[in-house]
Amino acid sequence: MPGFVFDNSYARLPERFFARLNPTPVRAPALVRVNAALAESLGLDPAALASPEGVAILAGNSIPPGAEPIAQAYAGHQFGGFSPQLGDGRAILLGEVLGRDGQRRDIQLKGSGPTPFSRQGDGRAALGPVLREYIVAEAMAALGIPTTRALAAVTTGETVRRETALPGAVLTRVAASHIRVGTFQYFAARGDEEAVRLLADYCIDRHYPQVAAAPNRYLALLEAVVAAQADLVARWMLIGFIHGVMNTDNTTISGETIDYGPCAFMDAYDPATVFSSIDYYGRYAYGNQPPVVQWNLARLAECLLPLLAEDDEAALAAARQALTGFAPRFEDAWNTGLCRKIGLSSAEEGDVALAQALLDLMAAQKADFTLTFRALCGAALGDDAAARALFSDPAGYDDWAARWRQRLEREQATPEARAAALRAVNPLFIPRNHRVEAALNAAVSFGDYGPFETLLDVLSRPFEDQPGRESFSLPPEPAEMVQQTFCGT
Ligand code: AMP
Ligand code: MG
Repeated sequence: MPGFVFDNSYARLPERFFARLNPTPVRAPALVRVNAALAESLGLDPAALASPEGVAILAGNSIPPGAEPIAQAYAGHQFGGFSPQLGDGRAILLGEVLGRDGQRRDIQLKGSGPTPFSRQGDGRAALGPVLREYIVAEAMAALGIPTTRALAAVTTGETVRRETALPGAVLTRVAASHIRVGTFQYFAARGDEEAVRLLADYCIDRHYPQVAAAPNRYLALLEAVVAAQADLVARWMLIGFIHGVMNTDNTTISGETIDYGPCAFMDAYDPATVFSSIDYYGRYAYGNQPPVVQWNLARLAECLLPLLAEDDEAALAAARQALTGFAPRFEDAWNTGLCRKIGLSSAEEGDVALAQALLDLMAAQKADFTLTFRALCGAALGDDAAARALFSDPAGYDDWAARWRQRLEREQATPEARAAALRAVNPLFIPRNHRVEAALNAAVSFGDYGPFETLLDVLSRPFEDQPGRESFSLPPEPAEMVQQTFCGT
């Protein structure tokens, strides 16, 4: 047996928080991949997970002892419009396990069949999007970004109907929890203040125990989520990540990134980059992510209003105060991170402007975001060739580099130490969209998982030079450009 030791705290909440049901079995489960390192960190046996008995569990055909399968209820604002009932329409939470680090984590099957929350959907997932979520979630984890994880992927031996018939698959997702802003909205929309309070208490216990003793614990919870989300979106932007569907049902309370649908990493730097084909108005463009997260957090604040103070005016003032904390928190995380990306270890007035000048130059000349920052490692050691080659007019870079070097003279670090620090924050390998699409296409169209496995391996060490794999660091050739990714649900 894989060794799941479940302790299902969410399933002990009142019955109106979820629906109890098992996954729907599939015809012919087959293993794509088990994430051995993650399995071990959760106290699971990877070999047992990969055995027929384990694969049956990962496909939803067999329920491991101690699991209490539920579909969680939630609501959400999607692209600004409110749906009072979304919920797990194609996912089942098997239960929670405690990792070796003592952290509680959800084990969820995604693509596991219809639930009472499925509406018109079939409850299933196609192989392509399952592999995309696997690749990007694991890449984000290796980049040090808070994220849900991929424990395993299996195919179902069934087809799912989208625009065409596609192979079906199930992803096993691991998360600090699956509680979203939309979970609060579900109860708030029903005027169920008791449930909002229970959920808030549950979130404090599970995610923010440090606020439990605060004078106003619900306000402290809101402030903690605001801080976690401000930090998260800054970290996304510092590696060029665009989430693509930042709806309130995709905004976690834990501060982990969730739901890798139409997400993408930027190649050439342009703050207006949009990837989602359903994002007609650029609502979720790269540079628009901070205000969108803040908007989502305002929806959370609305749900918590009755808990913040007896008096309506006082509650509103407290909520506003907490939301006001978002901008400075984000700015601080972004500015600090940006200065580290240009190798500064001390802080001076003008540092942010210096870093911003590099971004402006990159935007004007469409320089690659990831490679430009990575090239500063060589530049720190006196070799500007790689950096200059990324700019159509290298003179602009030369001017900037001269200003940069003047500033570096006032730093303590040796060039070697600076280069090492730059390498530790500026990755060489990100899940480039064209590489992800190529890996998905090989698997879906030809049953060839080689590119998927290779890509995962490259992305597991994003900050290391990997001789022979330089091509994985490169932006697409014009013919390889993927203009947008599709929800592909
Ligand atoms: P997502 O776009 O994945 O964040 O999902 C938004 C909502 O649609 C959630 O309530 C999902 O459970 C639901 N959903 C998405 N795809 C399906 C599907 N194939 N079957 C049933 N529900 C779905
Ligand atoms: Mg979602």
